Amino acid sequence: MIKNSIILNNVSKHYPSHKAVTDINFSVPEGCLMALVGHNGAGKTTLMKLILGLVQPTAGSLSILGHDPKDKTAFHYRNAIGFLPENVAFDANMTGKELISFYASLKGETKFRSLELMDIVGLSDALNRRYKTYSKGMKQRLGLAQALLGKPRLLLLDEPTSGLDPAARQHFYDIIRDLRKDGVTILLCSHVLTELEAQTDAVTVMNSGRIVASGSLEDLRTQADLPLSLRITVKEGMTKQIAQPLQNQNATITFMNGKHLEIECAPSSKMAMLRHLGELGSLIEDVELQNTSLDQLYAVFSDQRGQ
Ligand code: ATP
Repeated sequence: MIKNSIILNNVSKHYPSHKAVTDINFSVPEGCLMALVGHNGAGKTTLMKLILGLVQPTAGSLSILGHDPKDKTAFHYRNAIGFLPENVAFDANMTGKELISFYASLKGETKFRSLELMDIVGLSDALNRRYKTYSKGMKQRLGLAQALLGKPRLLLLDEPTSGLDPAARQHFYDIIRDLRKDGVTILLCSHVLTELEAQTDAVTVMNSGRIVASGSLEDLRTQADLPLSLRITVKEGMTKQIAQPLQNQNATITFMNGKHLEIECAPSSKMAMLRHLGELGSLIEDVELQNTSLDQLYAVFSDQRGQ
């Protein structure tokens, strides 16, 4: 049976001035990397704060690693949760080493492991520098090291790659991959959809405080039912002859030159289309199936209103 690290049942958080999130039903299985995406103000950070117990729901219930976040007697389970907030802020005059040691002592972590984490995030050369001298990316890395203290079973990462250069982003996802091998559950908010695509098991799209879509990329592609795009390389000068019968099969030719055709067809016509291309034998030199990107899916779902 699938064990869920995060379960939210009909959760709402309404402030007197604003309904931040409404009727959220959401679960994240153990070991899953779930991306939470949505416009600014969609309710992503509020959802993380609810999961952490930093704000209380106005309706509904939560179970995080098997505990209700408002259960004061079960505070020890929080040691199993790591959190990287959207804007990390530490004491400006403390050094990286002092800061990580301080948070390590709060989480009952050894000094050795805290220095090991500083090495993992690439900060071992900056241990004795004051936080105020760190660049934005270095501050973010320190935040990540802090979140990884205490071998968390659940990681909540709010915009973890903001401020990181491309090499550091790559390094961040290498760290995430290692954590996933250990079965850590990760909930990650990000606006950088292209980099999420290769990393996530599932994506949840929020809009105006509600969930508008949730599932694997494949699930979302099925739900969105966008036309399928194929790029075909044909024998030189044969594009027109090949394009004509394709148009008769309800396919739309979106681009054509002497050697290439780009066609769009309904996902349900995919196999018929591939069979037809197969019958054309050596006239077709290559077929590239282009998957709907997360950016395209986001464009479909992020303007929808939740139930
Ligand atoms: P971003 O991508 O900009 O970080 P977000 O999806 O994380 O946005 P939230 O920070 O969860 O959005 O905010 C959701 C909505 O709830 C926003 O309209 C915000 O103004 C509102 N909100 C958040 N906290 C409060 C509060 N304490 N009082 C009133 N409204 C609030």
